[in-house]
Amino acid sequence: MCLRRPGLLTLRPVELIAAKRDGRELATEDLHDFVLAYAREEVPDYQMSAFLMAGYLKGFSRDEAVALTHAMVESGDRLDLSRLSGPTVDKHSTGGVGDGTTLVVAPLAAELGMQVVKLSGHGLGHTGGTLDKLDAIPGMRTELSSEDLISQVEEIGLAVCAQTADLVPADKAMYGLRDVTATVDNIALIASSVMSKKLAGGAQAILLDVKTGSGAFMEDLEGARELAELCVSLGEDGGRATGALITDMGQPLADAVGNAIEVSEAIEVLRGQRSGRFADLCVTLAGYMAALAGLAEDGEEGTATAREALNSGDALERFRRFVEAQGGDPRIVEDESLLPQAPVQHEVTAGCYGWLEAVDAEEIGHAAARVGAGRLRKGDEIDLAVGLHFRAEIGDEVDPDTVVAVVLANDQDAAHEAGGDIRAALSWSEEPVERSPVVHEVVGKRLGGSI
Ligand code: URA
Repeated sequence: MCLRRPGLLTLRPVELIAAKRDGRELATEDLHDFVLAYAREEVPDYQMSAFLMAGYLKGFSRDEAVALTHAMVESGDRLDLSRLSGPTVDKHSTGGVGDGTTLVVAPLAAELGMQVVKLSGHGLGHTGGTLDKLDAIPGMRTELSSEDLISQVEEIGLAVCAQTADLVPADKAMYGLRDVTATVDNIALIASSVMSKKLAGGAQAILLDVKTGSGAFMEDLEGARELAELCVSLGEDGGRATGALITDMGQPLADAVGNAIEVSEAIEVLRGQRSGRFADLCVTLAGYMAALAGLAEDGEEGTATAREALNSGDALERFRRFVEAQGGDPRIVEDESLLPQAPVQHEVTAGCYGWLEAVDAEEIGHAAARVGAGRLRKGDEIDLAVGLHFRAEIGDEVDPDTVVAVVLANDQDAAHEAGGDIRAALSWSEEPVERSPVVHEVVGKRLGGSI
């Protein structure tokens, strides 16, 4: 590909790449012009890849992250939510295993009086994607026009659908390159990618669920904190009430890791039939969203209200209306057997005495992907019925026959292979092990955090 209008760039791409390679800070307008020229296909992929790798290795300043974010937002359309009565709220998880919180949090937040506009994506690698989970609901549509999205949100308080191609096209193209050039896990690149989508999505309040641990992009707490702080400041600079929770991804969040089975588990939480880490985090996220939206004094008060709303069963009815509004079969709320079902179930036992000390959550995500629940490569077909139930929690005491997981697959060989992968992802201790909290830290002044 050749550069069609190189004259529009203040700095030639090769000079900009060289400057980043040499560790220099780039001027806002140079970065801005470069990203927009890439979005117009005037800069080829190989130069953007070289730039991403230079930035990955040399780092980006906060000002550069701001410039990247603004340029990505400008590369496409923005959702105009001004017709909604509000308060409009969005949430975003940086990605994890067994992380189907949107399915519970969106109807719960709507029940608390928020209007939830949630643009979601498909899963890749070890992390799941909300759109794949919704695809498991027979008839469910995830492509909505802006008009339909806005009228649905005004009517029932929520919509969860695919991001249109015209929203932040620069991020879409850059993320595609990062995925294949080992440049995903860079704080400024993740923050600008996430926040450009959130800012273009138009909501007044944004809550980020930044994961830390073995299944997260940012494995250590310090990196997660840095990412959360940068995302919050980018959101606040963009005029949105923004906060973040740093939450645990040192083990799968929910019991279910897959697609149809995560929908099932969400329904059970909405029915009030399940307690535990997943339900706790859903209630906490909805509560902190309420605080950002000005509907609760603080996150704790919001969480208490969210718990009451969950117990009332009204959020389940809200979920049913959401499924119906997007063309899905609302009977799944009473009858989960209408969701795709896998033919083979295989129990995985601990095989030893001891306490569960650590879980390689990324490997558990890969085990689910290998039985067909996730994509090993972009564009792969996935099987919506398969996956696994992860039944153990760090701190659990086991004997050799304790069932730690149940694999749901299409054939016995695949199920046994995944069972071996799951066992290999677990570490045991001969001493009792402390349980880890599901929320590690709160970030953002509006939520009582230190920045
Ligand atoms: N999620 C995103 O949207 N972008 C990233 O860069 C990483 C996770």
